[in-house]
Amino acid sequence: MTSDHPNAWAADAIRRLRAEGRAYGPTPLRPLPLPALRDVRVYLKDESAHPTGSVKHRLVRAMFHEAIATGRITADTTVVAATGGAVAVAGAHFARLLDLPFLAVVPAKTPADTLARVEREGGRWQVAEQPPAAVQEEARAVAERLGGHFLDHFTDAERALTASREPTIADEIFTQLREEPHPVPAWIVTGAGTGATSASIGRHLRHHGHPTRLAVVDPENSAYFPAWASGCRDYATGMPSRIPGIGRPRTEPGFLPTVIDLVIPVPDAASLAALRWLHDTAAVPAGPAAGTGLWGVCHLVARMRESGARGSVVGLVGDHAEPYRNTHLDPEWVRARGLDPAPYAGVVERFATTGEWRPPTG
Ligand SMILES: *Cc1c(COP(=O)(O)O)cnc(C)c1O
Repeated sequence: MTSDHPNAWAADAIRRLRAEGRAYGPTPLRPLPLPALRDVRVYLKDESAHPTGSVKHRLVRAMFHEAIATGRITADTTVVAATGGAVAVAGAHFARLLDLPFLAVVPAKTPADTLARVEREGGRWQVAEQPPAAVQEEARAVAERLGGHFLDHFTDAERALTASREPTIADEIFTQLREEPHPVPAWIVTGAGTGATSASIGRHLRHHGHPTRLAVVDPENSAYFPAWASGCRDYATGMPSRIPGIGRPRTEPGFLPTVIDLVIPVPDAASLAALRWLHDTAAVPAGPAAGTGLWGVCHLVARMRESGARGSVVGLVGDHAEPYRNTHLDPEWVRARGLDPAPYAGVVERFATTGEWRPPTG
């Protein structure tokens, strides 16, 4: 690099982002043992293996990449995020990698654990003055005041994934399945938070002409199932999801319903029962959204089995169990939220061992 390079900082920053992606390589694609189901192979794409423990790592790297490539982040830009979730942890991680100041504007009820993780990654946080629904706007205003860059994951993550030209989650899945008995999956199943992951997978399927179908699992209170089913682009429930990372009170700009073949609404208690099975029987230390995903995977595998179809199905582990030890993984916490996994307990185990899928009705 010569000293008169007009964009030396950007060139170096993008080189560092690419190196970070390469250093960890693709996240693992793990087979999920379901002994009774010989004709269908299930795999889980384990995004908890990213250095900051969630699929948001991939989205945030792409957003930094794109913001640098378009000149919106430069040598001393303060990067501001609006969330008390995984985007804040990943944002702090990449800001430190690039020696940039990072600030998360977090909702009042953000768990202390998450704030500690942001700090460990070298980021700062401040509690929003506004209610949760207005945190985005507050963070945007904070960024403007600081002359910084607002990392708007609900609007920008979806486009950034495509624009950054890094290998996507779908690129990795298809490469990893190449030597498997059914290298082109019948279904890929994911949750939707920003909508970026499902949009990028759906794009990939069309781009490459794959016959794979894309399903999105959706928790209670989320706007995505009604938005997809009704075709209404601005559907809102106004209610927060209880499954971290997936389900939104409103239809976010990154959600692309046109590439989704099926949206499966999943009761929260079913998500937690499926999560319990993932932990106790399959030894997969995943976060709650993976339970939602597994429920949807079972539903689709059962349909395949009924019609005598063979093939593979890929689900997603979007984050790690660790942050949820005192919340979703604590039976007391679950009960206090009025959730009762009991009617759903045993349903996944029965499916895995006998092939009978009998979710409770009503
Ligand atoms: C964010 C998230 C998803 C969905 O990803 P989007 O691309 O934001 O739709 C799935 N699982 C978990 C755990 C997440 O945090």
